[in-house]
Amino acid sequence: MKAPHFPPAMHFFKAKPYIQKSPVFKLLQKMPKGAILHIHSSAQVSVDWLVMNVTYRPHCYVCFTRTGHVQFVFSARQPFQRLGCSPWNLLEKLRATMSDVPAFDKSLMRNLTLFTEDPDVTYPTQDEVWNRFEQIFTSISGLITYAPVFKDNLYQGFLQLYSDNIMYMELRTGLSQTYELDGTVHNRDWSIQTYKNLTEQFKLEHPDFIGMRIIVSVHRTQNLSTVKQAVKDTIEMQKRYPEVIAGFDLVGREDGGNSIWYYRDALSVPTQVKAKLSYFFHAGETDLFGTDVDRNVLDALLFNTTRIGHGFALAHHPLAKELSRKMGVPVEVCPISNQVLKLVSDLRNHPAAVLMAEGHPMVVSSDDPTLFGTAGLSYDFYEVFVGIGGLSASVGTLKELAMNSIRYSSLPPVLKENAMALWQQKWNKFIREFTINNKKKHLNDNFTLKKTLGPGKSLRLSQRRSLRSHSLECLKSVADLDGFPPRPVAPAKPQLPQHPVQHRQAAPPPQRRDSAVQEQRPDQAEDGEPHDCVQVVNAICSPR
Ligand SMILES: [Zn+2]
Repeated sequence: MKAPHFPPAMHFFKAKPYIQKSPVFKLLQKMPKGAILHIHSSAQVSVDWLVMNVTYRPHCYVCFTRTGHVQFVFSARQPFQRLGCSPWNLLEKLRATMSDVPAFDKSLMRNLTLFTEDPDVTYPTQDEVWNRFEQIFTSISGLITYAPVFKDNLYQGFLQLYSDNIMYMELRTGLSQTYELDGTVHNRDWSIQTYKNLTEQFKLEHPDFIGMRIIVSVHRTQNLSTVKQAVKDTIEMQKRYPEVIAGFDLVGREDGGNSIWYYRDALSVPTQVKAKLSYFFHAGETDLFGTDVDRNVLDALLFNTTRIGHGFALAHHPLAKELSRKMGVPVEVCPISNQVLKLVSDLRNHPAAVLMAEGHPMVVSSDDPTLFGTAGLSYDFYEVFVGIGGLSASVGTLKELAMNSIRYSSLPPVLKENAMALWQQKWNKFIREFTINNKKKHLNDNFTLKKTLGPGKSLRLSQRRSLRSHSLECLKSVADLDGFPPRPVAPAKPQLPQHPVQHRQAAPPPQRRDSAVQEQRPDQAEDGEPHDCVQVVNAICSPR
């Protein structure tokens, strides 16, 4: 069978060079994308920055575990050896002994990202990719919990988002303790205050960036009493920092952790103490069917979640799907994350395609850029637009998705209104520039073709198609998108009680859907080139 060349049908690690060459991708990079609503603090920057900037700082030590992983720590003196790890090596000295430093740095990068040239061989199962995924977070934590790096990591994260035309972020973070060289340890208040101060500083330097809020996250392998305490702590933190704390979430692999239902006593605390705490649950990041974890999407809704992280399983639960649509609860779609973590291989088969066709509210997000080799949102927007949206996706779809990111953010109403107004200005500018550039291209193409053909010659079909893609009618339709009416907003969200007191019967054994059968699609490549050039023509010129 001929290898596919349609980027969304390929693993992202192999598709990335094709995507980077794509005119659609270049357009998406320039597009004002609004907000990023699902991203984790430990994986928000590029791996190049972590290695080439952070590990080159003084006092950075590295050790190598028996399982072949790395751990880092910053220390003013030789740190105590950790169990299962080699003695600590000062990186500065270790590098000095290397004959090939670039190769050494590349090996460090490989330890901090999932990227590999042959992902299907390296990660044959979900268990293997998830084990590696969790391991990388342990490796990264020693770097980014060092207080000076903690600050710079956030600032660098802002810079990378800003350069991808993103104006606001909601960050999932466990608010881990941070440390100084002399052993001083900072608590959560220090971290929140630092987030606040750095956000203000970045906003001063970049007035069209509107800020960030935090979703406090706890790992779903923690026991019930720990999660209960974390919920109580988050309520208290929200009282003290209402402008920073957006809400609460459970993170980590759903299939390997406890279900939302398991934590029902902890998650009912806000109702019991008459406090308001918004939930932003990761739910339905699974392809198992019929397990408690698979039912997380329904339980998330019963606990009145504000958004659903991933919601990959939502399409298999008609009741939950209808409920979330009627309640206006969007799904945070993270296509590259779902593909790399082996829930779907061909993104045309992503369940979000069904949700999109049904007009279900959704936003596009990136989850863990460090681990997947992405930056900002352009790569995920590309996969959603070209792969999931298919030929029926248009610039109107992009506009709707960008607007959704502000509409479904946790910003208070007035700030949301201001953010939407600012985004609209950016969008207008984007459309204006896009129209002008394409008009120039149209004139150039016309001139070149006429010169090549000479008098009296007619255009071939492909040439006519090429011209049509830049025709004035087409450009006009793009320009008119300024006034394009977005899809109707989902109805106002009714409030559900936060006490889903129900009793369940024992769950039947899990059944994994047959992904091989599910994903058999004809190879659509004919010429060995990615097909998105055709896609963009259709996307831009198709009637709405
Ligand atoms: Zn996530």
